[in-house]
Amino acid sequence: MVETVRYTYRLRPGRQAQAALLDEWSRCRWLWNEAVHQQNSGRKPTFGKLSKLLTETRSRLAWLRDGSQVAQQQTLRTYAAALGASFTIEGRGRPKKKRKKDALPSLEYTTRGFRIRDGRLHLPNKVTVPVAWSRELPSSPTSVRVYRDNLGHWYASFVVTHDRAETPEADLPGIGVDRGVKTTAATTSPGFDLPHLGHHRRCAAELAKAQRRMARRRRRGSQPQSKGYLAAKRQAARISKKAARQNTHDARAWAKRLTDHHALIAVEDFKPKFLTKSRMARKAADAAISACKKELIERGTRAGRKVVLVPPAYTTMTCSGCGERANHRLGLGVRTFECPACGYTADRDLNAARTILATAERDRASADDVRHRIASFRGGSGAV
Ligand SMILES: [Zn+2]
Repeated sequence: MVETVRYTYRLRPGRQAQAALLDEWSRCRWLWNEAVHQQNSGRKPTFGKLSKLLTETRSRLAWLRDGSQVAQQQTLRTYAAALGASFTIEGRGRPKKKRKKDALPSLEYTTRGFRIRDGRLHLPNKVTVPVAWSRELPSSPTSVRVYRDNLGHWYASFVVTHDRAETPEADLPGIGVDRGVKTTAATTSPGFDLPHLGHHRRCAAELAKAQRRMARRRRRGSQPQSKGYLAAKRQAARISKKAARQNTHDARAWAKRLTDHHALIAVEDFKPKFLTKSRMARKAADAAISACKKELIERGTRAGRKVVLVPPAYTTMTCSGCGERANHRLGLGVRTFECPACGYTADRDLNAARTILATAERDRASADDVRHRIASFRGGSGAV
């Protein structure tokens, strides 16, 4: 089976190439902001309309014509897609203006706009950039995104097709996954829990040190910051980035192992919306589990496993032994679930994960049916 994926490489642009990329970015940013301006003045700019406008504007403005038409068109295409998504996907805001001081450069090129020759990435206007080929591209790419991160590093992210590795036969039937209190994710299969990702904690001391250094070197008022301050700031960003990368790696490895072994994956359908009132530490843990679940759902679906999303209502209060729902919500401090009806006791996280799995197994038809089922549990009296 063939699938589309991204392969990302570090770029090492020279001074000239970097200046050219930033010029290209400022033209594209200007176009993006023009489109936002149109949208704010009540028009609904579609890609078709914007594309026509681009042709007109390019014939009028020489400085815009100096830039790559492919990159400019892609900017508007991305904009139109973001605007379209904001109408259909809940919680997705309208595209906003990109400000020079904080928007990170990002350029997109389709096959017409780039070429790879002699190990270098060739872009329009004779811009060539050496690529650090950390691994081989599996096929010739259909598009590339060139971007700079907050550390000032440039990357090229190529879209390629490759043969998907076969997922092995599942040797275990089903697994329920819940966000844990003691762990990042609690599961029903022993050995598959995801412990708290500790890299952030390990880096925390280092990060605190860098932040203290920043505070010491900070200049008050409107004077520009010193080189020492900027160096400390860069280091702090480098440490957090490293921690984030390690967390992503661990989450991916976990999702792969879980997917390889299980035929049915039941995950709590968790909406970050409910969390607005929770504490900071809880928020960080919730962000971690959200990222892990997203990875798990994507990987599971891609591997052809049955993935069921179970609504989070009552999962911590329902007995996984008999299905009876307790009257009270379990506080976060309560570690053990005890069923008043049948006397079943289990670790709270394990009970919740088992309830999620049992709900998914009871109704394998679709996620929506499961949702309906839970809502009508015990006479449908309980609105959440
Ligand atoms: Zn019970």
